Amino acid sequence: MGRLKDYKLLAAVLGILVTAGPVLWFSAWLQKQGEAEVSVAASWTIGNVEVQVGRAVAALDELAAAGVDGCRGNQLEQLRQVLLKSAPVKELSIVGANGQTQCSDRGGAFAPREVIAGAATADPNLVLEVIRFAGSDERMLRVRRTGGSARTSLAAVVPAEMLLPQVAPDGTRFTGYARITLSDDTVIGMVGSDGDGALRDGLIASRVRSDRFGIVVTAAMVRNGVFATYDDLRRIGMVVTGLLALIILVAALIVPWRERSNPFFEIERAIGAGEFVPYYQPIVDIKSGGLLGAEVLVRWRKRDGTLVPPVAFIPFLESNDLILDMTRSLMRQVCEEVGPFLTERPGMYVAFNIAPRHLKGETLIDDIGSIFVGGPISMSQLVLEVTERYEIENLTATRCLIAALQGLGCRVAIDDVGTGHNGLSYILKLGVDIIKIDKMFVDAIRTEAHSQAIVDTLVDLARNLKMQIVAEGVENFEQVTFLRDRGISSAQGYVFSPALPGSAFVQLIEAIDPIVPARDTATAQPAAQQKAPALPHQAAA
Ligand code: C2E
Ligand code: CA
Ligand code: CA
Repeated sequence: MGRLKDYKLLAAVLGILVTAGPVLWFSAWLQKQGEAEVSVAASWTIGNVEVQVGRAVAALDELAAAGVDGCRGNQLEQLRQVLLKSAPVKELSIVGANGQTQCSDRGGAFAPREVIAGAATADPNLVLEVIRFAGSDERMLRVRRTGGSARTSLAAVVPAEMLLPQVAPDGTRFTGYARITLSDDTVIGMVGSDGDGALRDGLIASRVRSDRFGIVVTAAMVRNGVFATYDDLRRIGMVVTGLLALIILVAALIVPWRERSNPFFEIERAIGAGEFVPYYQPIVDIKSGGLLGAEVLVRWRKRDGTLVPPVAFIPFLESNDLILDMTRSLMRQVCEEVGPFLTERPGMYVAFNIAPRHLKGETLIDDIGSIFVGGPISMSQLVLEVTERYEIENLTATRCLIAALQGLGCRVAIDDVGTGHNGLSYILKLGVDIIKIDKMFVDAIRTEAHSQAIVDTLVDLARNLKMQIVAEGVENFEQVTFLRDRGISSAQGYVFSPALPGSAFVQLIEAIDPIVPARDTATAQPAAQQKAPALPHQAAA
């Protein structure tokens, strides 16, 4: 039903939000944590770079102050002395104007070197270069001090690894990614790269630049174990959310399927969809052949067109409150379908079967009030059939309810008389208006003497108590004659007609009890006085 579907949709949306909410929050939190961590790693690394390069610059300043500008014996000795106290500097050297190394702290013997790139710094006398010693892949940073009157420059070589972070800010081994470049992006060195040195998409990264040296540090999270980075965790969170959302969606799809296989939901839906439809079994005046009215008998017309008889579902409906909804739906449909025809024929009535649980409290009174008051069917045209099949739980309360219904103008019939366990005197205390003689006794009229006796007893009782009798399940003319001879005037059964769909019943009403148009009334007799034509089944038999 619509209500149920809305509820499920809401549940699915809420379910997804409830799942996605915390994961999105967690993911945002992880992003922040990640950003904070790489930003600390970047500042930590740039701090280290400035300290180490600063030491190299200090060594060069000291040599310049001492006037070292060439490769003379005492100058080489000075290079050696300064080198000893200038970790992380690996080599101090004199570089000629042509860029060639002329001598180093080791004298004239030094490995040839290749300059990969160079960049200026904020200090016009300071140049940074990335170099490589011949025969080695290891990159080094060469800090060169130019200027002064000398045509040579002083150079300090620092291995790239000395600039890279070895430990993390918290004292543990540094496991992140860090890359140090010159201002022109030439790589000086890097750690934590997974091969090509390129940063993978989506990694949380942070860049900082040293104002003094123009060196740029890029730090990032790298894969380290299963839950490598915050970013990976974020992805895992997304996958988990996706899976949960999928599970919720599948569940939302499965629930209606389960409901379909659950009779309660299926019947609840069918009632809402108007699949329980009224059929009408004519009740006939067996003395005149006229149409007195009809008993409403429900049929379940399924979507595929199959018609299910009440034995298949009434016991289930009566075991819970679905019978109340079904009865209300039936009453409304009857008002719509045959109401106008009954308005025109105030002597005609419709009888509804009322389940025992509908007799509790005020429900039935309320339903009748809300469905029929002001509608086309008046109270005097309503008969409510109360079955005797089950024990009547609270006789006093039921009697009060029956009196209240009669107070409204309705009539009450006791159905299936003789089939239950309540006892005749007990039933008669209910003060009903109509007794319905069960088919069981009508069937046995010809064969069983005691059935005839029961019919005679009921007829006597009814006459004394001024109750009307309706015989049910009348299937042949012998039964009609027998009942008529006993003074019973109303009957229903296949001899007259089975229960008919609304359209057929309406046609029958119009055929048997036509309404004469008002302008012709001068010559026509009133409808009630006309001799009603025979029912189709009577004519055939
Ligand atoms: P019931 O109230 O005793 O209804 C009479 C049943 O006898 C109907 O069966 C009717 O079709 C059938 N019948 C009528 N004339 C003959 C006949 O000449 N020969 C035979 N063999 N059967 C005949 P149906 O329609 O299958 O209904 C069965 C029962 O289901 C009803 O018995 C009633 O107890 C219950 N029922 C039907 N509609 C409703 C309803 O709207 N509400 C409730 N609470 N019960 C209903
Ligand atoms: Ca009945
Ligand atoms: Ca009956």
